[in-house]
Amino acid sequence: MSINVTCYACGSSATLVDGARCDCGEPYWVETDPEAFAWPDTAERSQWRYRDLLPTDPPIGLGACAGGTPLVRAPRLDDDVRAQIHLKYEGTNPTGTFKDRGSAVGVSVAAERGYEAVGTVSHGNMARSMAAHAASEGLDCLVLVPADIPPSRLGLIARHDPTIRRVEGDYGDLYYEALRLGRQREVAFVNSDTPLRVAGQKTTGLEIAESFAPDVPEAIVMPVSSGGHASGVWKGFRELSAAGLLEEDSIPTLFFVQAAACSPIADAWERGEETVNPVESDETVAYSIANRNPPSGNRVLAAAADTGGGVLAVDDDAILDARRAIAERAGLSVESSCATALAGARTVATERGFDDDADVVLVATGTGFTDTDTTDVEVTAPTVPMADLDATFEEIA
Ligand SMILES: *Cc1c(COP(=O)(O)O)cnc(C)c1O
Ligand SMILES: [Zn+2]
Repeated sequence: MSINVTCYACGSSATLVDGARCDCGEPYWVETDPEAFAWPDTAERSQWRYRDLLPTDPPIGLGACAGGTPLVRAPRLDDDVRAQIHLKYEGTNPTGTFKDRGSAVGVSVAAERGYEAVGTVSHGNMARSMAAHAASEGLDCLVLVPADIPPSRLGLIARHDPTIRRVEGDYGDLYYEALRLGRQREVAFVNSDTPLRVAGQKTTGLEIAESFAPDVPEAIVMPVSSGGHASGVWKGFRELSAAGLLEEDSIPTLFFVQAAACSPIADAWERGEETVNPVESDETVAYSIANRNPPSGNRVLAAAADTGGGVLAVDDDAILDARRAIAERAGLSVESSCATALAGARTVATERGFDDDADVVLVATGTGFTDTDTTDVEVTAPTVPMADLDATFEEIA
């Protein structure tokens, strides 16, 4: 089975070869035939309800459960941005982040093609996701992490028994080197923005769209790192537009948010450039989105420009404040990386504003349960004798 890919930038097409990019240097994405697509008439809740737009059939194991995440209304956050806030909560995916959407597609195609091993270059969520999906399919999984990763980050990945190697050298180069070796050695690398991963991750956008159909939310705000998820969401909406399923063909305004301490894409946007240059620093509380050299950075700039949106940077204090707001006023525990979406939406609200009763979707990309660092929250829990408990009840009543 061959899969066709196209380049968003120059329009050229090719047959998918693992890890290959377009001659123009930009990443490919999987070509689909969306013209005949209609909203599915099926009870299937997972991302596989969109199988007509996906390059493979659902796997039997864990991958079958990817996607199908809830859209949580958060009325107590509305005032923050003067719009109606919805959180697309990706924490209910099998390993707690949207990465499962892409891993499910990538691992399942690898198994179909008879590969015995898959791999990824990641220092966190994507590695955990790939290791889990490979475990379910019975494939080996090679996880390449930066040499300086704290051992504590490896525990949750190691639980699924992948082969982990801490690699010395430039982490940005490792992304390309792994794809090259993977192609030679038949290890199917599913990195952050490879076509099969993006194909799976576009279903975040399809689900958001279907939740509002036939309307379209005004804006979607999401964290961005490599640009793989952002590319997918943009692609999903382009396909729906081609299928004639968006009112007036209007794609929501897409806003992408980075941590100010590591914001190569936002920097390029700010300067009005069309290409992203790597940055030096990656020290931020939002460690899941600290990519100094994002492989799909240029594609994110294109998505923001195409939809009339933008790319923003928010500082760590704003991120932690937003994380507290989401926990205390929407009831969701999210990773600090995800909180950038609210912090970014607050900035947009101040700088240009949303329509008054506009629907604004914040993509909460991952659970906070894997991110148990609570140093920014003061835990107040005095001890009281049971005989005096009545006084406490009086206090809160
Ligand atoms: C990977 C990840 C992101 C960034 O996604 P990209 O596709 O790399 O841009 C955002 N949030 C969380 C929780 C992630 O794990
Ligand atoms: Zn190209």
